[in-house]
Amino acid sequence: MTYAFPPPESVSLAISGERAKFPVRRVYCIGKNYEGHVKEMGGDIARSQPIFFTKAAETLVPSGTDILFPPNTDNLHYEIELVVAIGPDGIFGYAAGIDLTRRDIQSEAKRMGAPWDRAKNFRQSAPCSKITRAENIDIQSAQIILRKNGEIMQSGRISDMIWSIDEIITRLTNDMDLQPGDLIFTGTPKGVGPAIIGDELCGEIQGLEPIIIRVI
Ligand code: MN
Repeated sequence: MTYAFPPPESVSLAISGERAKFPVRRVYCIGKNYEGHVKEMGGDIARSQPIFFTKAAETLVPSGTDILFPPNTDNLHYEIELVVAIGPDGIFGYAAGIDLTRRDIQSEAKRMGAPWDRAKNFRQSAPCSKITRAENIDIQSAQIILRKNGEIMQSGRISDMIWSIDEIITRLTNDMDLQPGDLIFTGTPKGVGPAIIGDELCGEIQGLEPIIIRVI
């Protein structure tokens, strides 16, 4: 096999306490998965169905990354989310991720009935912590928090999800395709809001490694 030019390096995430890396395949995301967030976005719980979208694996950045404020937005939003990492034998582990969103572009896309790619799938839009192996973690009862400059902006529990982890996995398996290396951002609790240049965002999920980024 020869290439016309060198292929990009494959994307991977660190695994807590291990030298081996988790090889990333695809990044699935689910929208509208916490009642409080559906309400704050003006949605209707009764008619709410899960919405799936994707981010390119290349949008992943590790904790400690300086995020360059993205172009063409006046409203960059944070969304703290549990990330489920799929391995060869089902759930491999969990991480804390931030689904960075150009909210103004998303609002326009919703009005136009257009895809969300420009709102969700831009450079550095998927900060994600190291992965912690799933063994011995009671993720259901874990608290999920986002702090902006030390102040708690988002707070919820994984058990508050509308669609459970198992339901999301079943749906992705039957409706799309789920393979080892895939990540799933599982939606955000209420309290999303803007981040501006200089802000430090810290996402914490009990039992997992934190995700800390700064917008520059
Ligand atoms: Mn999200």
